[in-house]
Amino acid sequence: MLELDFHPAGHHFLQIPGPSPVPDRVLRAMSLPTIDHRGPEFGALGLKVLKGIQQVFRTRHPVVIYPASGTGAWEAALANTMSPGDHVLMYETGHFASLWQKMATRLGLSTEFLAWQGKDDVLPQAPSWRRGVQADLIEARLARDTEHRVKAVCVVHNETSTGVTSDIAAVRRAIDAARHPALLMVDTISGLASADFRHDEWGIDVSISGAQKGLMLPPGMSFNALSPRALEASQSAKLPRAFWAWDEIVAMNATGYWPYTPNTNLLYGLSEALDMLEAEGLDNVFARHKRWSAGVRAGVEAWGLPVQCADPAVHSPILTGVILPEGIDADAVRRLIHERFDLSLGTGLGKLRGRMFRIGHLGWSNDLTLLATMAGCEMGLKLAGVPLAGSGVLASMDHFARHAPRAGAEVRAEADLKKAA
Ligand code: PLP
Repeated sequence: MLELDFHPAGHHFLQIPGPSPVPDRVLRAMSLPTIDHRGPEFGALGLKVLKGIQQVFRTRHPVVIYPASGTGAWEAALANTMSPGDHVLMYETGHFASLWQKMATRLGLSTEFLAWQGKDDVLPQAPSWRRGVQADLIEARLARDTEHRVKAVCVVHNETSTGVTSDIAAVRRAIDAARHPALLMVDTISGLASADFRHDEWGIDVSISGAQKGLMLPPGMSFNALSPRALEASQSAKLPRAFWAWDEIVAMNATGYWPYTPNTNLLYGLSEALDMLEAEGLDNVFARHKRWSAGVRAGVEAWGLPVQCADPAVHSPILTGVILPEGIDADAVRRLIHERFDLSLGTGLGKLRGRMFRIGHLGWSNDLTLLATMAGCEMGLKLAGVPLAGSGVLASMDHFARHAPRAGAEVRAEADLKKAA
């Protein structure tokens, strides 16, 4: 039994795909004294974060902030826009898409779960869990729905259980090509603020996200970004809702307040995280995650282990799924790595329990924390007797050394060396 107050020396390596490591700046901001949530300072904080979060979703429309985990924001999206028995078209990219479908069914909706039906030699039990949303399947299904029974199309942007980031613009084009009025709802719980995301430009009606991934906050806060069509749909939708109801929240948010007690200190943290993201620039943030992902993938490939995502066009910049040889319990390997090296990796979820582990490369990380992560994995894999083709650590080191984080940085460093010689 682990004792709760036992902490090994040094920083814990939290390399699961969320919650992600929280920057010290954010932790310090959250340690400010809790203020009156009806007082004047709070209104200023509320207005600031509500405006800032719009920039991250790339929207001009309201974003609702809930004191709840991402699961709450999933429910809010459906409860505000749908009526009992409404038919929703969902797409099976992995475990989180499956949980959302289960929730929709529990809420009394009629769900249809599309999936890629091709053959996959590595994971024959879950071929669609290695690929992104196939927009053509959605287009074909909607084109057949001449009576417009489908009220919403629900997809996961970054499927955290597999390490696949789907092309949401393609899903929008598919809905438009079928000339279908269904609402588009997108779970970007682990995609937002790490991978390119454009709520308005991609014509999304409800985007759902959470605090504990790209926003680099502890868990406990989630979001619904809305479109005018979603707000309109909420006026006639009949599923019961009270806590999740957008109308009262959006009305009070106009002055920076909430109809209930919001999580003040997490909002301090959000304010700080938004400042950090703005200072770096979202495009630089996305490029940083892509580079990390390529470095980690180079390492996994050098080990000779299959990367979960089978389609290089949709590799996630946020996490990499690593499939272990048949007969090896991936969870036992993960436990060994945690015990020996104080490194937490994501477990295989649902259909993939015990078959794979996930390396998170998001949040407050850098090249060296990722190299340490690769070293922890490599040592653990060897201790567990997993045959490796070569050193992943060396391959990741090589990748990070050869690809400077900022364009021109390697040229400047070389010039400085020449000057010094
Ligand atoms: N959707 C995705 C893609 C997720 O990654 C998660 C959590 O990891 C969820 C939904 C559920 O969010 P939460 O665990 O915050 O309730």
